[in-house]
Amino acid sequence: MLFRPHIWIKNVLAIDRAFVEKYGFKGFILDLDNTLSMHGNPAAENGIFEWLDSMRELGVKMVIVSNNTKKRVAPLAAKLGLPFFSFGCKPLPLGINKAKKLMGLPRKEIAVIGDQIFTDVLGGNVSGIRTVLVEPFHLEDKLGFRFKRKLESIFFKRDYSKLERK
Ligand SMILES: [Mg+2]
Repeated sequence: MLFRPHIWIKNVLAIDRAFVEKYGFKGFILDLDNTLSMHGNPAAENGIFEWLDSMRELGVKMVIVSNNTKKRVAPLAAKLGLPFFSFGCKPLPLGINKAKKLMGLPRKEIAVIGDQIFTDVLGGNVSGIRTVLVEPFHLEDKLGFRFKRKLESIFFKRDYSKLERK
C-alpha cells in the first residue's frame, strides 16, 4: 500500500537508540517543514538540535529533502548542520535518490521521515525505502494544507482533534 507508512510516531524526538537498532536504520532522509521545524519558521523546534546530536552519536547519517525552496531550506539546514536537497519533488524519487546516493547506504538501511502522506510517505514507498510518518509540529491553517489533511483523514482516519492548533 503506497500511502501507508511503515512506522507512525508522534515526532522525530520519539526516535532513540532502541528505535534505530530495532529497525536497523543507518540513515534518515528528513523532511523539513513540520518535521524538524514549524512550516516557514526560521528556527527548529525545541529539542531538535539535541536529537540530531544523539543520532550523530549513533552514527546515523542524515540528509534533508524538502519540496520547499532553497531560500527556505538552506539557512535552516546550515543551522542544523545537515546537507540538503531543496525542490525535492516528492513524491517523485528525484531528491530522495540524491540523498540516498549522498549517504552511500542501501535502501534497507534508510528511512524517509516526514509529516505528509502524499509527499513523504508516497515518495519513500515508490523509492522502495521504509517510511516513518510523524504528526506535524503545528497544523497549518492554509486552505491547501487543510484540504490535504482532510484527504489524509479520509484515507487514514488520522485524528487531529487532539493536536494543538496554533
Ligand atoms: Mg513537511
